[in-house]
Amino acid sequence: KRKVAFLMSGGDSCGMNASIRAIVRVAIAKGCDAYAVYEGYQGLVTGNELIKKMEWNDVAGILSTGGTAIGTARCKEFRERSGRLKACYNLVSLGIDSLIVNGGDGSLTGADIFRSEWNGLLQELVDSGKITADLAKRHQHLSIVGMVGSIDNDMVGTEMTIGANTSLHRIVEAIDSISSTASSHQRAFIIEVMGRHCGWLALMASLATGADWLFIPEAPPAETWEEDMCDVLKKHRQLGKRKVIIVVSEGALDRNNQPIKCEKIKDVLSKKLNYDTRVTTLGHVQRGGFPTAFDRILATLQGSKAVEEVLSSSENKPSPLIAYNENKITCVPLMEAVQMTLAVAKAVEAKDFKRAFELRDPDFRA
Ligand code: ADP
Repeated sequence: KRKVAFLMSGGDSCGMNASIRAIVRVAIAKGCDAYAVYEGYQGLVTGNELIKKMEWNDVAGILSTGGTAIGTARCKEFRERSGRLKACYNLVSLGIDSLIVNGGDGSLTGADIFRSEWNGLLQELVDSGKITADLAKRHQHLSIVGMVGSIDNDMVGTEMTIGANTSLHRIVEAIDSISSTASSHQRAFIIEVMGRHCGWLALMASLATGADWLFIPEAPPAETWEEDMCDVLKKHRQLGKRKVIIVVSEGALDRNNQPIKCEKIKDVLSKKLNYDTRVTTLGHVQRGGFPTAFDRILATLQGSKAVEEVLSSSENKPSPLIAYNENKITCVPLMEAVQMTLAVAKAVEAKDFKRAFELRDPDFRA
């Protein structure tokens, strides 16, 4: 019987539970055993009660819930080879040879390093007498399959990450609520949303709410942004618009790489336009709540695909990342996608936006 383990790592996102449910049930339906690794890589390193065989009903009732039922965590030990050696021992002891990792680029890099070291780790366990040569031989190949849970929608190679759609809905609901007050009092609201290197949430929320102005990391405003913004806002008010909504990505920068802070924008509005201005930082409400139908469906189909990929993996096939492109569940090479994602972040940092946009639209999509 194939034994498939899975874990959630890095920041939580809505839809992770749907992926857990799909992985467990599809694995069981295909005649495999499914093992949940609790608390991300920490569970892999610690083993024991943190790696638990799941039955069909263990994942009942979680499809419509936010967060992750098996925890997620950041784990320092897994960054060290010694931690990964313990993880290797824990997996081999349970007869597990496949691992599905749902996380961001850091978690997926960790997974790839783990796979590349696998044979060396096995040898070390044999040499130190922890496992037999026979057991090592039966576990020569570790299958790794990646999935992306991220509210930022910041992974290259997939048009949508698990949880981004729900977060966008949360933000839009919040801006709609704020809009009533803004209209009634003719106030300006500056709303900070998550997205450190990626302005997708801010951009899409602005489109969905008809925001007046927007700040994202990928498009620093002109040096004259204060005047430009005030001109536009004045024009909107002349046209009869009573409210002002400005959306700011938490990672927004100006042309001199200085963060664009909400308080600074508020100052500009108060001083130059004399607008009654309030700042709202949405914070963690953006991560939680019930997942949208889209995220439940995406995570369910991707979880199912992840199990299929585990079962068809082989030593010479590169690890896949389960993606979503042109309305289909697809696979792209895991490490290529991660490396391109890191390259985009670097290009944005270096203000080479043309390069960043080129990298985000790769032709390696399946
Ligand atoms: P994300 O997956 O959301 O990008 P992190 O970068 O914090 O989040 O990574 C989550 C976890 O993945 C880390 O706490 C660590 O256990 C593991 N990890 C990240 N990068 C590496 C790496 N280079 N080598 C080994 N493990 C890593």
